[in-house]
Amino acid sequence: MDKNKVDYGPMEFATRAIKYGEGPDPVTHALNTPIYETTTYAYSETDEYDRMIGDAMAWKPGCRIYSRTTNPTTSAMEEKVASLENAEDACVVSCGMAAVSLALLTQLNAGDHVICSDDTFVCTASLFEDILPSKGIETDRVEILDLENIRKAMKPNTKVIYLEALSNPLLKLADLPAIAALAHEHGCKFIVDNTFLSPFIMRPLDHGADIVLHSGTKYYVGHGDALCGIVAGKKEDMDRIRYYNDNLGTHISPFDSWLALRGVRTLPLRLTKQSENAMALAKWLEARPEVEFVLYPGLESHKQHELARKLFVGDHFGGMLCFHLKGGYEEMKKFADSVRIPPIATSLGDVVTLIYPKKPYDNLIRLSVGCEDVRDLMADFDQAFENMKK
Ligand SMILES: *Cc1c(COP(=O)(O)O)cnc(C)c1O
Repeated sequence: MDKNKVDYGPMEFATRAIKYGEGPDPVTHALNTPIYETTTYAYSETDEYDRMIGDAMAWKPGCRIYSRTTNPTTSAMEEKVASLENAEDACVVSCGMAAVSLALLTQLNAGDHVICSDDTFVCTASLFEDILPSKGIETDRVEILDLENIRKAMKPNTKVIYLEALSNPLLKLADLPAIAALAHEHGCKFIVDNTFLSPFIMRPLDHGADIVLHSGTKYYVGHGDALCGIVAGKKEDMDRIRYYNDNLGTHISPFDSWLALRGVRTLPLRLTKQSENAMALAKWLEARPEVEFVLYPGLESHKQHELARKLFVGDHFGGMLCFHLKGGYEEMKKFADSVRIPPIATSLGDVVTLIYPKKPYDNLIRLSVGCEDVRDLMADFDQAFENMKK
């Protein structure tokens, strides 16, 4: 039996996270996917080179001309991602903002209209409020929990509905199947940023999204050591993404692809632990007298908890948790300054817990819960609450 050619058939998520897209290097038999640090690929004959150029123009996997177009380390990651997202095809790019930009620019032209949710990552907000309008693309930002808001914002030239599945920082969960139906009724594409959940918790393509994207920098990579962007969907849409990626130069480096490959193998392990920790902390925080309220989709008090139960894959609710302290800016600052384990930092999805006192909300603390022992986190928060009251 040649173990490199076994068709394992459909496997469970955790097995795919480890096995798919990878295998011993065909030349050296190196088990771990090598970092192909090469810009160009060399041939002996013109005919062979011309055949490769033809394959490259058709975006055939395995064509090797130049690493801005394709690279074997990145291709391995793309195959793995396509499997994890239940997508026909996936494209791995330089960072999350490259993924957002490529998804939008491939679907929108001057004169088109796009609807975006009102609670998004700050750079995504800049795209919708400044960059896209300056290129002649009309944008509207609406509150998306009430479907009527989206329906009212629809225009004859609306081409895309865009949102973050679990929003930043208010952790609102979008009703993906209902919004997908609305988008498709109007012939629009539905694009979902699923950074805050990852495909381990939820797969938007299974709920009607046309394109899913991530800041792979966060949960996919998981160790805060590489920038990475993920886009996945139908082959036709991904071919267009590849064309733009090649011509705009938003490619990822082979080394960062390799770090992403290494990170994603433990995505199920990390998110199981992060979800357990976040659930325990959410319940613990909800019972604290210093806390006004906690936002976490795993809590019954979360407004879309039932929806989360319906859309999420297993009994996990992810690692992102927010809470409002009683008091204002002073309390928020004192608490954030007093915790010892989590550093104050932007970004999320790391194995280390990160705390982000979220401006302009006066008393909102955002936690990206890590993989530490939750008892240490509770003890740490306990002393920070005591300090806060001094
Ligand atoms: C971080 C983030 C991005 C941008 O990703 P980068 O990898 O930093 O470019 C986009 N969307 C969300 C929800 C994010 O948290």
